[in-house]
Amino acid sequence: MNVLVVGGAGYIGSHCVRQLLAAGHQPVVLDNLIYGHRAAVAEEVPFYTVNLGNEKEVGKILRKESIELVMHFAACAYVGESVTDPMKYYFNNVAATLHLLRCMMGSGVKKFVFSSTCATYGVPEKMPLVETMPQAPINPYGQTKLDVENALKAFAAAYGLSFAAFRYFNAAGAAEDGSIGEHHHPETHLIPLAIDAATGARPPLQVFGNDYPTPDGTCLRDYVHVDDLSRAHIAVFDYLTTPGAALFYNLGTGTPTSVLAVIRAVEKVTGLTVPYNLAPRRAGDPPALYADSIKAQNELGWLIQYPDITSIVATAWKWHEAHPKGFAK
Ligand code: UDP
Repeated sequence: MNVLVVGGAGYIGSHCVRQLLAAGHQPVVLDNLIYGHRAAVAEEVPFYTVNLGNEKEVGKILRKESIELVMHFAACAYVGESVTDPMKYYFNNVAATLHLLRCMMGSGVKKFVFSSTCATYGVPEKMPLVETMPQAPINPYGQTKLDVENALKAFAAAYGLSFAAFRYFNAAGAAEDGSIGEHHHPETHLIPLAIDAATGARPPLQVFGNDYPTPDGTCLRDYVHVDDLSRAHIAVFDYLTTPGAALFYNLGTGTPTSVLAVIRAVEKVTGLTVPYNLAPRRAGDPPALYADSIKAQNELGWLIQYPDITSIVATAWKWHEAHPKGFAK
């Protein structure tokens, strides 16, 4: 299938491009390269540096490349920034997605796979999270993703759009061969920061809070390998053939892992010590977030190939060792 990967030069998008190629599909990448890295995508993959607001250009690409399905990864994803600059988030995450969807409808492309997030659930009352639990985001980032989910539901009913929205837990790890991986600027995620603290590339890690109601007092998260995420995006293709299909899936391993357990995994994999300091809680961090992803496993046959934090961190380390500066020269 000819698939337009919007945000295909970003962290999850670029891994998905590789998985699409491995599964025999034809990815085409659209990325404005504000956060993405050209080097994260193989030279032979058609690549367009375009903004989603440019509907004329995006429409042309859809037609020229005979696109049948669009995957949309392009979004701003810093929770803290979404609180201080919500305008940016509503424009980049909601308005830009509406431009893309309008283009798709105008060009007759009616299959869509959307990157959503567990941040749409807010601070859940019960764990693990099931797809049917209430969604009440506590920051503009989560709200913008929920706004798009709701628009997609209405578009499915009105225009016959078929879509899957995947609610990611903590995407982590890197390609098994170490060729591409995580490179954010600024970096805020636990695993790359812990690795950099271990190698001395950054200062000691700040552990945000050790007084949470969890077994070791630090937050519990559900780290899921980026290639496992990618494979779910492809497994859903067969379920998007019915016009108006509206599918929602949690993607996580279901295993809660604490911040201290991540530090131990990084130490085990690297053989180095992770220097860290205890710091105050980070605003907006729920104590625990982990998924029930039985629906994706049962309905899509989604197989988790990296079920434990050590195997995930091992891939992150392989990428990091080979590319200590990420995609920077
Ligand atoms: N975290 C931390 N120190 C850091 C970065 C993150 O203690 O420098 C904690 C954070 O509070 C959360 C977990 O690590 O409990 C995962 O954070 P991350 O930013 O990687 O992902 P999030 O869960 O916010 O999407």
